[in-house]
Amino acid sequence: MSQPLFPAQPPVVAAVRGRAEGFPIRRIFCVGRNYEAHAKEMGVAVDREAPFYFTKAAEHYVPSGSTVPYPPGTSNYHYEMELVAAIGKPGFRVAGPEALDLVFGYACGLDMTRRDLQFAAREHRRPWDLGKDFEQSAVLTDIVPATDIGHPRAGRIELRVNGETKQSSDLSLLIHDVAAVITHLSRYYHLQAGDLIYTGTPEGVGPIVAGDTIEGSIEAVGTIALNIGQPE
Ligand code: MN
Repeated sequence: MSQPLFPAQPPVVAAVRGRAEGFPIRRIFCVGRNYEAHAKEMGVAVDREAPFYFTKAAEHYVPSGSTVPYPPGTSNYHYEMELVAAIGKPGFRVAGPEALDLVFGYACGLDMTRRDLQFAAREHRRPWDLGKDFEQSAVLTDIVPATDIGHPRAGRIELRVNGETKQSSDLSLLIHDVAAVITHLSRYYHLQAGDLIYTGTPEGVGPIVAGDTIEGSIEAVGTIALNIGQPE
């Protein structure tokens, strides 16, 4: 193989709670409209038949606790608090009961969104990339192994901005739960160790500005934080 023309991007590695080794991130899949009340606030109907997805580049990963600049090109920058499933082994066309065997662990995630750009794309029937797949848009905590906490199917999921509660729901309200998403997604992709799945956000999304502090939590999984800095 030829030598690279310039230094290749090093792997993006998330920390794992209680382990010296980290979790190298491969792909980031995100589920859209996976809580009914959030779909409603977005002004769209849910699809109970099948989930749908968008993706983010692994290099957009940001560890919890970071300060990120208010991103370019938007005046309606939103938080979305989400449960994230971290895939630890390969799987293709897995059936329901096998699906959770692929999960190495879970984390809290923030699917940061340029809502104005997402809505403009939606209106013109264009892809959502500018609204979703941008630098520092995939915030993630340490991954907690499923061997420690099992597979959470219920539990509070919450988010506060400057101490004020904005999102408060329960994982049991996911329309397509983690096993269902993996079953569906693995019909279209060979899932691989290192893949992440952001499972969707509950209702209560909203705008943030420079100087704001976001804190989120998922029962039994952990807490996440993000500070919004001045635009570059
Ligand atoms: Mn989302």
